[in-house]
Amino acid sequence: MVGFDESKKLAHERAAMVRSHLQGRDITDPRVLNVMGRLPREAFVPPSYAAQAYADNPLPIGVGQTISQPYIVALMTQCLKLSGSEAVLEIGTGSGYQTAILASLAQRVYTIERFHELSESAQAVLSRLGFDNIEYYIGDGSAGWPEKRPFDRILLTAAVPHVPAPLLDQLADGGRLVAPVGTEGSQMLNVLEKKQDHISTKSICGCRFVKLVGQYGFPE
Ligand code: SAH
Repeated sequence: MVGFDESKKLAHERAAMVRSHLQGRDITDPRVLNVMGRLPREAFVPPSYAAQAYADNPLPIGVGQTISQPYIVALMTQCLKLSGSEAVLEIGTGSGYQTAILASLAQRVYTIERFHELSESAQAVLSRLGFDNIEYYIGDGSAGWPEKRPFDRILLTAAVPHVPAPLLDQLADGGRLVAPVGTEGSQMLNVLEKKQDHISTKSICGCRFVKLVGQYGFPE
């Protein structure tokens, strides 16, 4: 729990983050700016990092994983072009911060995390914040969640060497998939669109994410 002065300071930092790190770059989607201007990112980071919650960099969340830099979270969300009616699959729940943004901007979110401790703490924060349109799965998400297909949007918050074929299969016609694709040390943020079984790919920018470890990701 943060005190009153502390929460005023964090609200100020949240507004500054939206202004300089998001609007100051190329984030223009008003829905993305609005939700990131409201969501308490400090609730998703370990208490010892709360004071740095709005810093322009990733932060550790345990078991060697990180909560992504706010700008990259905003950019990926903007690339998804959510209107509010979508079913979204997220692979890599992590802290649950990106999950909260998706759940605020889409109809329903299905999120998969391989570490049960991360999924459980994300579930606790998200239910405390009142989200009731999220389904959780603990395990390897590299092959998606076939029982819940099709998904209008799919977001990978960890890097893959190639976009897993099962995910393209579970993507709805007219759907979009956003993923960092490349090597362990450096990737391209790619946006894939599926139209009548034809997949088109657009590269957005270079990026660096933790590995997606699993059957269709990187080896352990
Ligand atoms: N969106 C998260 C980012 C977390 S980092 C946030 O904002 O906090 C990426 C996450 O992907 C890590 O938590 C990691 O454990 C998870 N991950 C890696 N490989 C995975 C896999 N095969 N299936 C599900 N989750 C995976």
